[in-house]
Amino acid sequence: MFSIVNPFDATFLSEYQYITDNQAFYDCNLCKKSFVIWRTNTLDERLKIIENLIFILYKDKQNLAKQCTLEMGKPIRQSVAEVEKCILLCEYYLNNALNFLSPRTITTDGTESFVTYEPLGVILGVMPWNYPYWQVFRFAIPAIIAGNTVVLKHASNVAGCAILLEEIFIKAGFPEGIYKNLLISGEQVTNIIDLPYIKGVSLTGSEKAGVAVATKAASTIKKSVLELGGSNAFILLEDANIEKAVATAVTARMQNTGQSCIAAKRFLVHQSIYDTFLEKFKIAIKALKTGNPMDEDTDIGPLARVDLAEEIEKQVVKSVEMGAKIVVGGKRDKAFYTPTIMTNITTDMPVFKEEVFGPVAPVMPFDTFEEAVALSNSSEFGLGVSIFTEDIESIKQKIHLFEEGAVFINALVKSDPALPFGGVKKSGYGRELAENGIKEFVNVKTVYIK
Ligand code: NAP
Repeated sequence: MFSIVNPFDATFLSEYQYITDNQAFYDCNLCKKSFVIWRTNTLDERLKIIENLIFILYKDKQNLAKQCTLEMGKPIRQSVAEVEKCILLCEYYLNNALNFLSPRTITTDGTESFVTYEPLGVILGVMPWNYPYWQVFRFAIPAIIAGNTVVLKHASNVAGCAILLEEIFIKAGFPEGIYKNLLISGEQVTNIIDLPYIKGVSLTGSEKAGVAVATKAASTIKKSVLELGGSNAFILLEDANIEKAVATAVTARMQNTGQSCIAAKRFLVHQSIYDTFLEKFKIAIKALKTGNPMDEDTDIGPLARVDLAEEIEKQVVKSVEMGAKIVVGGKRDKAFYTPTIMTNITTDMPVFKEEVFGPVAPVMPFDTFEEAVALSNSSEFGLGVSIFTEDIESIKQKIHLFEEGAVFINALVKSDPALPFGGVKKSGYGRELAENGIKEFVNVKTVYIK
């Protein structure tokens, strides 16, 4: 048995019991049987149900958003926006799946050669709590449209969101066994990967869970996709538009109360504009409204759990012991952590070296572009980087210098259904979204006719 409490006020929300391995195997077996039929449905038939799902998402938007805010403390406006982004993703694949999954003709010395994209079978998703709907959608929707069926192990602290997700798939009219929620623990996941008819696994989460899942998948020769942590740099070059950069920096670091893998987590500012940026950034951060995440005007809610806020406190305290200075914030109250700016940063401090999964912004000056690149690349992660400059032509020539899955110029790093999403280094491998995402769990079958 485990219980879920509201991180805002610690009130009890619900209690759950993990299902047994046998029950989980039964559910997976159901998805295996459904796959046999689902794969033979035409793409049009599959997309029809996605259209229904969009309708249900519109209808249930407020209810879904409320559950997310209750369980993990996301400010309600942002919870609603998350559901709306799921709708966008469905619409994107509705419009593009036919093009992505149609056979491709290739010219060879044969009379005819082409490539087809066939589903693999039952795919396991292991997902985190920080975007409890979006993370699931960006994995499951393309996998299902491609003809796979899906079993989902969601983070335990959003078990209520996980149940609502399964309900909306049923309401949309997906036959049983196309999308199945498995209320299991992290430890039970490897037993699922072992099942012969589980053909792949996609995990979004921590390095520790990623290693466990990828090791098991590799030992059974199964495809895995890993979307892990990040510590994106947010760089202001000498000619950056400071006003625009400040406004973007606040969202880039503070949205979802800082609990985003692609959040800007290290601010690197050219020496010549460092003081001006810091002053404006400080004013903007102080203006954020912290409070009840159910209130429409709340910008910053609690962290998703008290232990997560405690972890941030530890990283900040250790960094201060090593010489960092707190410019604003730096205080914890139960699951709340105040939006924080820190200076006097060195590269060995936890707030620079580790992923800080909360509203903490370390700001560091640099003198040369080469120094900024080296600082940015010094992270063991490689999800993305934001660079602010007015000289677009010049920065376009230097994009290859950044060891990242994404480079965003004059914008925050964000996920967009039309753009491939994923990292390098310890941020993982594989891509979600766009054409790349829908092709992660397909058999790219070569056909050659002499
Ligand atoms: P986590 O502890 O790794 O949990 C993620 C999922 O993995 C949960 O469903 C969790 O289940 C499960 N899990 C935990 N240990 C496992 C194990 N040994 N074997 C199999 N599954 C296991 O991560 P988190 O703390 O919830 O999420 C935050 C992390 O996710 C951050 O590092 C963040 O950067 C990363 N993230 C990455 C992306 C991306 O796209 N790259 C997006 C969002 C978040 P339980 O909840 O039951 O433990």
